[in-house]
Amino acid sequence: MTLHPITDRDALDLAGNIMVDFMPMKAFAEHPLILTEGHGVRVRDVHGKEYFDGISGTFCLSLGHGNQALIEAATRQIGRLAMAAPTLAANDRSLEAAKLLLSILPSQFTNLKWGGGGSEANEQAIKMARQYHKQAGNPRKFKVMSHYRGFHGVTGFALAATGWPHMKAQYEPMPGGFVHLHTPDPFRPPFPATPEQAGEIYAKLVEETIILEGPETIAALITEPVLMSAGVVVPPVNYMHKLRELCDRYDIILILDEIITGFGRIGKMFAAEHFGIWPDIIVLGKGISGAYAPLSATVITERLAKAFWGDAPVHYQAGHTFAGNPVSCAVGIAAMTEITQRRLWESSHTLGLHARQRLTMMKKRYPEIGLIRGEGLLFGVEFVLNASSKERFPADISFGIRVRDSAIGRGLLSRASHWMLALAPPLTTTQAELDSMLDILETSIADVLNFKDVRALIAA
Ligand code: PMP
Repeated sequence: MTLHPITDRDALDLAGNIMVDFMPMKAFAEHPLILTEGHGVRVRDVHGKEYFDGISGTFCLSLGHGNQALIEAATRQIGRLAMAAPTLAANDRSLEAAKLLLSILPSQFTNLKWGGGGSEANEQAIKMARQYHKQAGNPRKFKVMSHYRGFHGVTGFALAATGWPHMKAQYEPMPGGFVHLHTPDPFRPPFPATPEQAGEIYAKLVEETIILEGPETIAALITEPVLMSAGVVVPPVNYMHKLRELCDRYDIILILDEIITGFGRIGKMFAAEHFGIWPDIIVLGKGISGAYAPLSATVITERLAKAFWGDAPVHYQAGHTFAGNPVSCAVGIAAMTEITQRRLWESSHTLGLHARQRLTMMKKRYPEIGLIRGEGLLFGVEFVLNASSKERFPADISFGIRVRDSAIGRGLLSRASHWMLALAPPLTTTQAELDSMLDILETSIADVLNFKDVRALIAA
């Protein structure tokens, strides 16, 4: 076999030939970030420059880079069985991983379908919800409710459930039967209210929507427990309780998209525990395998599973080549075991408190930090032009994106939009490493405040 190693020069030239997620090809080719190595919470680029991986890949690399247990699990399994026959057979690793996952979840969760990624797993959840109602005697229940500014993935149904019009416009028309709800943002309610009152208002709006749409037509409600791309919005606890109640009252399947929040990210093993409610379908991905191999799971309760038991065609009528792949499942077993044994949700909780304390201090120095959001090691800041009214910077100032870019220059990777910036470092991050990341964030905010147009806008 002839190998054609990529040189630094090739890498820069080839950057124009690939499409990077959500990014204009031209902009990427002009300033490509090409990563070549990772170790612990750091990654290195093609020029040898180091960065803190402040977003764990994309909220998934929970055990950091270079984890020996995960590397060994993958290596061992590739040598043993790299692929089973997914349309004919399960493999022993996928069964073992299922046993482990079901033992971590409460006992009402009895059945699951593996997937390769988050979009796939949400797609499965929505299809299962529709199929369940058809087979449970309610064939008119097909609508799916979700939140504006929520994100559930980029494939058909998952994209239709996503609440960001700019991600859909190019691909319309979307599948029918998707209804969107207000973002349950405790700090930006439609009119002045405490977070608790906001929770009640949002829940009332949900109930009104259910009634106006016709409860007999609604199959499911899908939500992220923490709406990351909405700006790391943690909904009010009373709102989440009310969602559970409404779903019970109107026979609607509650789907929690825990793709980001599952496996310790927000200071509990699952975000469901933070709110004290359990869904009917829990969707897991990202951290489930520490991101060393693609793995996701759509897990359903026994009540739902019963509708899929019996002669054809009551079974779930779909599959994906890499779902339940033995290598992915072997890695998943190693990752779930390590997260459980090290109780990493506890460090996530403690480090998250520390980060929010530091951000609170930073906010005093920089009133442009308007809101601090998040739980555990999933946190973010929202930038504002006016601290008292919480008015955001105009979009063309791209405050958050500029902070992100300045931070990249200083060696920190983060996630940003023009008005916010989020961090979600590996759960294995030390406090000293977290402090270094926050130092870079602070210096980067100071950098952007020195830009001429930003200074002029603030002075105006
Ligand atoms: N749901 C949520 C909450 C996500 O954050 C993501 C990805 N960031 C997805 C679903 C889609 O996952 P994937 O990119 O693996 O398809």
